Amino acid sequence: MAQSITQYQPKLKSSTHTLSTPTPTTSTPTPFTSVYGPVSSWRFGQSLGIDPIGHHSTCSFRCAYCQLGKIEQVQTTRQVFVSTRHIEQDLQTFAPWDVDVVTLSGSGEPTLALNLGEIITLAKTVTAKPIAVLTNGTLLHDATVRAELAIAHEVAVKLDAIGPVRFQRVNRPAPGMTLEQILQGIQQFRQEYTGRLAIQTMLLSPWSVAEQDTYITFVQHLQPDEIQLNTPTRPKPVQHEMDARGNHAAGDRPYTVHHLKPLSESVLQPMSDRIHRATGIPVRHPKQLLTQ
Ligand code: SF4
Repeated sequence: MAQSITQYQPKLKSSTHTLSTPTPTTSTPTPFTSVYGPVSSWRFGQSLGIDPIGHHSTCSFRCAYCQLGKIEQVQTTRQVFVSTRHIEQDLQTFAPWDVDVVTLSGSGEPTLALNLGEIITLAKTVTAKPIAVLTNGTLLHDATVRAELAIAHEVAVKLDAIGPVRFQRVNRPAPGMTLEQILQGIQQFRQEYTGRLAIQTMLLSPWSVAEQDTYITFVQHLQPDEIQLNTPTRPKPVQHEMDARGNHAAGDRPYTVHHLKPLSESVLQPMSDRIHRATGIPVRHPKQLLTQ
């Protein structure tokens, strides 16, 4: 059943930032490399990125804050986007792996890659570094996807809403996708997965007490190893920008961006404390970045 997609209206300030003059309004296409970084992440430290999605940003969501910029292809079916051989060749140049973690993320939703399991296995054979996957959880209802993800040392699952209205507004899912199905998939995965599970929640506006209570009940039952509360600290490109998948730095960018207003520490800290007090689960948020 098709679901209506509501345009979310976060506090956006559109601007063009440049690295040098004159001011360009469009960027030059960047050649595709399936391995990028390392990037410095408040959640993972120095992270080498593997992009199993490729040139065209492809996802089952179109999140209002997506730091890739525009999602060019919205889909829920899996396919091979980048061959495992291509990734293997690109990975070799990064030996001897002076990073904290190797992360599958990139230009969209990594579980849409049909060769996800192959890529994780490959990464584990060429480096002893931990392998993490960032997923939006939309395919966790699929037993094959769960089995492939189970090979990773750490899986971070996005959960930006605990009710259908915020879900539609923030994540803008592909037609037919329901929050209920995603929550069931996450629970199923938790029961099967023996690695480290994190729940990542992006906050664009303060949550009501009732929403926080529903969230607390869910995570209490789920028992993830960690909860990461996030808020937009990077600008959102207007168009899809390959550079955005690995550019975690503050400062100017050679393309047009929207600035989303991050939540303040006075909102994040009490919510973190409340969740931690109620569940005992470690909760982190990007405090340092917001106070810089
Ligand atoms: S799930 Fe990630 S890649 Fe997909 S639209 Fe949301 S932020 Fe972008």
